[in-house]
Amino acid sequence: MFALKMNDTFLSQKTMTIDLPDDAVCEDCGGTVEVRREGSIQGVFCTRCDWAVVTTYLPEILRDETLYEISVTSGDYTNKEHIRAIAKLNGVNFLDARQLLQTQSNFKLYKGAASRVEEIRVAFELVGIQYEIRPPFPW
Ligand SMILES: [Zn+2]
Repeated sequence: MFALKMNDTFLSQKTMTIDLPDDAVCEDCGGTVEVRREGSIQGVFCTRCDWAVVTTYLPEILRDETLYEISVTSGDYTNKEHIRAIAKLNGVNFLDARQLLQTQSNFKLYKGAASRVEEIRVAFELVGIQYEIRPPFPW
């Protein structure tokens, strides 16, 4: 069984579609989850309770060859959700992520493809981390 977590990212970098393990279940109630898509929004929804993670579905983003830079402009080192998100997205452990948030008020997290920047942006929005993207991000 694979219990889904809020900060997990499920997006396939090739198709921008949500790609879940077959045995994925809701972290709250253990119920079956399903993927639903409507227009430019897609999400994972629990069929038993109201748990859900929603993200955007923008296949056109894959044709954007601009390199974008996403930086954290304000994060809270006492907020576990912020630390977990930074740790996961930056590929560091919890303590390193906390130290990063504590010692640097502004730092670059990623530079590269629009689809990955969008994924990070959604993760930041979910937990309330302030960020900046350069050049201006049209997605
Ligand atoms: Zn549930």
